Amino acid sequence: MSLLDDEFYFSQSSLHAYKTCPLKFRLRYIDGLYWPVECDSALKLSSEIGRTFHLAAQRYFLGIPPGFPGGEMGKMIQDWYNNLTSCFSREIGTWMPEISLKLNRSSLHLAATYDAVYLPGDSGTVTILDWKTGQVPPRWKTLRSAMQTMVYRYLMVEAGEAVTGYPVSPGGVEVIYWNPRFPDTRVVIKYSDEDYYQDKRVLEELVQEIKNCKYNDFVSVEDPKVCSNCEYRMMCRGMEPEKKEEYEDDELNISSWDDVPEISY
Ligand code: SF4
Repeated sequence: MSLLDDEFYFSQSSLHAYKTCPLKFRLRYIDGLYWPVECDSALKLSSEIGRTFHLAAQRYFLGIPPGFPGGEMGKMIQDWYNNLTSCFSREIGTWMPEISLKLNRSSLHLAATYDAVYLPGDSGTVTILDWKTGQVPPRWKTLRSAMQTMVYRYLMVEAGEAVTGYPVSPGGVEVIYWNPRFPDTRVVIKYSDEDYYQDKRVLEELVQEIKNCKYNDFVSVEDPKVCSNCEYRMMCRGMEPEKKEEYEDDELNISSWDDVPEISY
């Protein structure tokens, strides 16, 4: 019997955690140890900036005034917001910010919340947008093979009709990663039937592997370098997570805990 509740929905965050370190998955999603990942002040500030921008972007696409905070941070968010509005016109097509999708299939429970979904019109295509706010530009090579890209595109094909109103085929899906610090860099990742069938196999096998794990099968990662910024480092290695001056997006805690409320104990 699986240790996971029947109502557990896998997300890009939980699957990424398992791929990074099975023990990390267990600590977070089975043991329910919500570690204070924002104890590092630089990480806390980066997370707050990221969240504030995401909220401003959501309000922009909803046609609501963004309401910037004061101080230096507010000025920076305002600059980023201006970059957003210059690069993405909400007047063309249909924009849906903060859209959640769930796939409820016996072999695969999958969920994601998209920063924005764009429907250009009657072409039957759909664009998934993801805002990055880290200190480095989005990189195609890294994002092409990211768990986030796999989950986002696959789930859109499987469950996207609920928001598009029409069946979504792999060839009609693309993901755009964009960072307001680097407005001229837009990473566009297309999808294909071949990608879709590969993702289907990989995701179903990975989820089955996790479901089959007994408690002690969730072993720690061997390479201690992987642990350097992990919130459970003190527990596993007897050391505080390393502090950094700059963080990349996947280290920021903007959406990685979105799935925690889904868990039942
Ligand atoms: S500190 Fe290392 S071994 Fe422990 S959960 Fe994190 S990545 Fe895994």
